[in-house]
Amino acid sequence: MASVHISGIEKHFGGTQVIRGVDIDIADGEFCVLVGPSGCGKSTLLRMIAGLEDADEGEISIGTRVVNEVPPKDRDIAMVFQNYALYPHMSVRENMSFALSLARQPKREIEQRVDRAAGILGLGPYLERFPRQLSGGQRQRVAMGRAIVRNPQVFLFDEPLSNLDAKLRVQMRIEIRELHRRLKATSVYVTHDQTEAMTMGDKIVVLRGGVVEQAGAPLELYDRPVNTFVATFIGSPA
Ligand code: ADP
Ligand code: MG
Repeated sequence: MASVHISGIEKHFGGTQVIRGVDIDIADGEFCVLVGPSGCGKSTLLRMIAGLEDADEGEISIGTRVVNEVPPKDRDIAMVFQNYALYPHMSVRENMSFALSLARQPKREIEQRVDRAAGILGLGPYLERFPRQLSGGQRQRVAMGRAIVRNPQVFLFDEPLSNLDAKLRVQMRIEIRELHRRLKATSVYVTHDQTEAMTMGDKIVVLRGGVVEQAGAPLELYDRPVNTFVATFIGSPA
């Protein structure tokens, strides 16, 4: 596990500044949700933690290590996306072991890690199936399995539930929190859905226009919003 520290981050795309001096501290083992309207810079921030985008200014640390110059594959993170394309021609087991095989992990080690992840996610009976034979929820679990097998210090989630129907979404929120309770890995979870944020986050960071409006525990934001934007955003149903 590792803490994540973001300080003084700025990012432009072309002439447009999309991140405007963001500081976020995420403690070891914390489940931190970045929430805000579409276009406020959530994915860009997450992609910078992952190393998929470079910051123009500022510093990003994972644990005690500054990672600005560290390539994504050496950052000890795993990312779960909204469009978690599974490999259609590979079984669940193969989907989950693929990245580890590329990294030339020993076969036995790969098998153990896949079996452990499958156990945690309830995918044991489905390991030899193919993605087309799975429900939406099961596919989402396989996508999480691919992240878990890598034993990352930090999990990054970018709106992983937004393609699921409402009922499944509620169930998966609970499953992801349960997963976090078991693995205790530091997690950064991006969503535009305030209900999701309020029910999942240990800490919530509310973003607007590339700026942090407020950061705190759900109850703190609910009881003491710092401005009308936060009050309205947190208070309105998704
Ligand atoms: P969010 O995830 O909160 O919806 P993003 O981080 O995706 O927001 O985007 C923040 C802003 O940056 C948006 O205005 C978006 O159009 C812009 N943006 C994101 N990625 C790029 C890119 N690769 N090139 C140009 N503009 C981008
Ligand atoms: Mg996004």
